[in-house]
Amino acid sequence: MAEYDYDLFVIGAGSGGVRAARIAASHGAKVAVAEEHRIGGTCVIRGCVPKKLLVYGSHFAEELQDASHYGWTVEGMSFDWPTLRDTVLRDVDRLEAAYTSTLDNHDVEHFHERATIAGPHSVKLASGREISAEYILIATGAWPALPQFDGVEHCITSNEVFHLAELPRRVVIQGAGYIAMEFAGIFNALGSHVTVVNRSDVILRGYDEALRDRLLQITMGRGIEYKFHCPITKVEKQEDGSFLVHPGKLDPCPADVVLIATGRSPNTSGLGLESAGIATGPAGEIPVDEYSKTACESIYAVGDVTDRMALTPVAIREGHAFADTVFGEGSRKVDYDCVPSAVFSQPPIAAVGLTEGQARNRYGNIRIYSSDFRPMKNLFAQRHERGLYKLVVDAGTDRILGIHMIGPESPEILQGAAIAVRAGLTKADFDATVALHPSMAEELVLMR
Ligand code: NDP
Repeated sequence: MAEYDYDLFVIGAGSGGVRAARIAASHGAKVAVAEEHRIGGTCVIRGCVPKKLLVYGSHFAEELQDASHYGWTVEGMSFDWPTLRDTVLRDVDRLEAAYTSTLDNHDVEHFHERATIAGPHSVKLASGREISAEYILIATGAWPALPQFDGVEHCITSNEVFHLAELPRRVVIQGAGYIAMEFAGIFNALGSHVTVVNRSDVILRGYDEALRDRLLQITMGRGIEYKFHCPITKVEKQEDGSFLVHPGKLDPCPADVVLIATGRSPNTSGLGLESAGIATGPAGEIPVDEYSKTACESIYAVGDVTDRMALTPVAIREGHAFADTVFGEGSRKVDYDCVPSAVFSQPPIAAVGLTEGQARNRYGNIRIYSSDFRPMKNLFAQRHERGLYKLVVDAGTDRILGIHMIGPESPEILQGAAIAVRAGLTKADFDATVALHPSMAEELVLMR
């Protein structure tokens, strides 16, 4: 008789949980997963994937506008939000089915209900059933954090934004981080009037300042309005169903949708962590060691619930490393150095490594190279928007410490360049690489 019902019980079937379950099963473990929402988690169901599809969908506005310069006449051009929304949601269904098949193909049992921790080796399902497992992995992710103000119940978050009945004419977005800047770009491109309201005057905190300034300048040029130093204090519902948003002491502004994007909190509330002696950190996160082990020997946690680096590919690596460590042939840690990231704003931002400020603090003597250019496609279409690429170089060793880019396709370009940064290549290596002409990417090897 086995001592436990399962070798591994995973709570949460998002990116990290599904990867961990699949890899543990492929190492021979008997695995089950519980998911209270939909299989796939935030990234697949209400995050990266549907967001990126909306970015693609909204980008046609610019392409169609530019088409006339290339001789195309597009007659009767119009946009239908329900068509885009429903096609995106169907793709989400397809991906959910693909994730479910992955679990089935690896004989991972799945329970579609909430599970909580009932002890170091025990979980309790919402149905009341208790299940034992030698190891438990918590991969419950994070949930939008809502500030408190009168009328917050009238606002939506990134959970609901994919399901809007119609395209809002006026959108007010609170926050100026990833989600705010990405949806500001989407709604602006689709023709909504967008107002971004933030508590500080910083957008995309943590990204290189020159890039942030460029994004601000370009998006203001595209018609996005910013109200800084004035978080929302009240939202009032009007008789016609629209809203009146009060940003700090400024005049109220009307809106059809108010989107709150003020960060996400780890999903640990009511999870029963105390039954296994696990205390959460200040943000509600689960503290873990470098192998993702919690304070309890048999319980691990990966992904956003640990509040380390809230990015899907990182959660996937953490889940994979956990499964290899516990069920495979050796211990594996995740290396958090040189993790590339992108903001799918319009234009997008992409970055890897240290910003100029971080590099200066850490290395002192650094060199900065930059290219401020007007992409050929913008020039041709008489768009004045400029791209900006920046290399941060350690003056002592000539090593590239960071690459920061804003401009069309910058995330696509950066992924390859991130390999060079991670490999420790030097500015001389970049200089020695022949440009690929004509491209925007060639700017990376032409900075002198
Ligand atoms: P972010 O942490 O990116 O930004 C939060 C924003 O809300 C900031 O502008 C911040 O202002 C403001 N804010 C924070 N707390 C409050 C508060 N209590 N009241 C008013 N304003 C507040 O959060 P997002 O919600 O945009 O995204 C959540 C996470 O999701 C990201 O951190 C990221 O990890 C992930 N994500 C990643 C994406 C990607 O990789 N492309 C895309 C979307 C999400 P200030 O800066 O002034 O403090």
